[in-house]
Amino acid sequence: MHTVLELLNLTTNFFEQKGIDSARLNAELLLAEILNCKRLDLYLSFDKPIKEEEVDNYRAFVKRRGNREPLQYILGHVEFYGLTFFVNKDVLIPRQETEILIETVLNSTDKEAELNILDIGTGSGIIAVALAKHLPNAKIVAVDKSPEALAVAKQNAETHNVSQRITYLQNDVLIASLPIDEKLDIIVSNPPYVSQLEFQSLQKEIVAHEPDFAVTDFSDGFTFYRKIIESSKKYLNENGKIFFELGAGQSAQVKSLFELHNFSSIEIRKDYSNIDRVIKGEWK
Ligand code: GLN
Repeated sequence: MHTVLELLNLTTNFFEQKGIDSARLNAELLLAEILNCKRLDLYLSFDKPIKEEEVDNYRAFVKRRGNREPLQYILGHVEFYGLTFFVNKDVLIPRQETEILIETVLNSTDKEAELNILDIGTGSGIIAVALAKHLPNAKIVAVDKSPEALAVAKQNAETHNVSQRITYLQNDVLIASLPIDEKLDIIVSNPPYVSQLEFQSLQKEIVAHEPDFAVTDFSDGFTFYRKIIESSKKYLNENGKIFFELGAGQSAQVKSLFELHNFSSIEIRKDYSNIDRVIKGEWK
């Protein structure tokens, strides 16, 4: 029989050997998931023996994490903007920085307005769902080229009771035009903005496990900004706005793209590491 403390110590050592950051925290979060308790509750039960079956399940999780599979795919859920989202290998794992994108959209809109919003590359659906939750009269179209991602996004919308106000479209915005009848007030996107070159230097968790097409454009990192800004005017209302998440070092070039296409009132917001993370442009 293994106790909680023994399992945590063994697993922490194993993760350290594998070069996994925050080895102890990973060991604790995985065990808490298996035992269906909070991480800190483990500290109250260090001497507790763990059932054989639970040990087997924990071993399976530990093995996956040892292969550098991201923790969030193993747990199957992530917190984002105060909500819990289901995730799997078909979607990009929500990042904390993307909360700044949500905040920026919410700060620049009237909460009660009947807005038409388009979320391009919805992935797990975090942007569409978080906005629908905070903008009770908004209607949202969420687009992704991956049907598997759309299945995850739909599931998250149902969990959070906003599926009636979100329409899902399978569409590759780089190829097809969008079948949208009503003009849009807001386009929001966290596109794959990592360049092909930079992609190869990212950590193994990302390169080997997250969907590559959700991370990189396999080019210079600007493909989606260019394409969305260029083609947006036929979809946007007058005074319509575009909000993008940005990769580090991309703000000046995306600002120029906005200016080139006659967008104004451009605003940039930094993240907690002082990196320009979100940009907004208005079509006037
Ligand atoms: N919209 C999702 C997110 O922000 C997915 C983005 C993507 O796959 N590039 O997490």
